Amino acid sequence: MQKSIIIIGAGIAGLSAGCYGQMNGYKTRIIEMDTKPGGCCTSWKRRGYTIDGCMHWLTGSSPRNSFYRLWEEVGAVQGRTMIDHEEYARIEGKEGKVFIVYTDINRLERHMKELAPEDKDVIEEFAKGIRTMIHFPMPVEKAPEIFSPIDGLKMIFKMLPYLMFMRKWGKITIQDFARRFKNPFLRQAFALIVNLQNRSNFPMLAMLVTLAWMDQKTAGYPVGGSLEFARAIERRYLALGGEMHYKSRVVKILVENDRAVGVRLADGSEHRSDIVISAADGHTTIFDMMDGKYINDKIQGYYDKLPVTLPVIYIALGVARSFEEMPHTVTGIDYPLDEPVTIGGQERKRLGVQMYNFDPSLAPAGKTVVKVMFASDYEYWKKLKQDPERYKAEKEQIADQVVALLDRRFPGFAAQVEMRDVATPMTFERYTGNWQGTFLGWLISTKTLMMRMSKTLPGLKNFYMAGQWVEPGGSVPTAVMSGRNVTQIICKRDKRSFITTVP
Ligand SMILES: Cc1cc2nc3c(=O)[nH]c(=O)nc-3n(C[C@H](O)[C@H](O)[C@H](O)COP(=O)(O)OP(=O)(O)OC[C@H]3O[C@@H](n4cnc5c(N)ncnc54)[C@H](O)[C@@H]3O)c2cc1C
Repeated sequence: MQKSIIIIGAGIAGLSAGCYGQMNGYKTRIIEMDTKPGGCCTSWKRRGYTIDGCMHWLTGSSPRNSFYRLWEEVGAVQGRTMIDHEEYARIEGKEGKVFIVYTDINRLERHMKELAPEDKDVIEEFAKGIRTMIHFPMPVEKAPEIFSPIDGLKMIFKMLPYLMFMRKWGKITIQDFARRFKNPFLRQAFALIVNLQNRSNFPMLAMLVTLAWMDQKTAGYPVGGSLEFARAIERRYLALGGEMHYKSRVVKILVENDRAVGVRLADGSEHRSDIVISAADGHTTIFDMMDGKYINDKIQGYYDKLPVTLPVIYIALGVARSFEEMPHTVTGIDYPLDEPVTIGGQERKRLGVQMYNFDPSLAPAGKTVVKVMFASDYEYWKKLKQDPERYKAEKEQIADQVVALLDRRFPGFAAQVEMRDVATPMTFERYTGNWQGTFLGWLISTKTLMMRMSKTLPGLKNFYMAGQWVEPGGSVPTAVMSGRNVTQIICKRDKRSFITTVP
């Protein structure tokens, strides 16, 4: 008999679990509280502009990366134009110096040596690190949970040449590595490559692999933005025969005799299935949908102690200006302000601005979406939200401040602004349900980089979790892999061979 699966959440992990479930003969239903697919991988329209709320780069944007196959299977990349930028970021110093993080390794190495000839050795070590990661065999094909001893041995064999390398770079943070530069500008600028705060523990290994993918042009930007990307996967899911239910919030996972048997929605209706997968927020799933009944000290410890990636204030502006003279970058330009400003209750000394001048589909001809993002404190916004008038006023004030700051940098800017939109950690929480308004789940650090979390809960049968709350570090490729892996685990338990198709 065909088994049924209810999947909670139509983010990339939920959509992926749906697609692979359908490919493998399960009857799946995705239940999503929002009105559209994508979760964090989203875009929204304001006054003729499309604000992209997610994708700076897509790992696996070309066939040279092992994630590409997964994107093909879920129908996300076919016919999609990918842009590979020449620059990852620009980081400016006070005295007009600029560190350009080129995506081409050779160019980056040359540029760094020009900036800081005295740091030749450290620069070469860094460039060698990126080059080593180019051929790193990313294990995406099979879920580690179902590895046979032979699979394990094969993996060790493949990883062997990288073990020492991974041990070394997995332990060094960006901040630690930056301190090795003698050149004061490069020392400061290098630490800012990953520009959001609370990333001081960001592992160099993650940086090296990202830059290796950029160099190989396998982590491009998908033209059309994040929602269009998610919609393509939704189309694939529907074409495979999947069922989608929007505007349906799951409040409880139904359990009988320690087996998940379905879900209850906010409207009180109950829906039964043989298997339940939650691809929604981890905290809500464990502590609200299941009242914390299926947990152990390890899982409790994650939620008590592991930091999440700080949420952001996301300021998007629609500007009647082409910015064609500005470089195309993956993450933007980060520059010091003449004087510090307080935004979202915190002093800000720098501003990171991203021009979407490379994607004409996001703005009317000759116009551009400009975005500024600040990491911000969740509690600050939670408190402010209790007073709707103050919350609204603070958002207005932030938009005013950012426009004024950008006007200093780009004279005439303020008069060209046609659209202003400010999303806060509360916005991200409201639309995606993610705990503490985060958008990447657990903070990636030297501690969580290699951490593997269980996709099941102790004592509960027929229940699985997928997505960024069981994959530390988050991101869209991890989400698609997570949905695929969960389906592989289910197939293995049901003694079925896991199959995939490409449309
Ligand atoms: C500003 C920003 C920039 C980013 N940049 C990148 C990038 O450049 N590259 C990259 O790879 N990743 C990036 N990410 C991260 C990436 O978007 C996420 O890690 C990934 O999309 C998470 O997918 P997910 O399916 O695990 O979870 P989510 O996207 O959180 O999906 C969970 C889904 O569950 C639904 N849900 C929650 N609770 C319920 C409920 N009770 N009932 C029903 N449905 C529910 C939510 O509405 C949501 O649709 C970025 C994210 C943001 C916001």
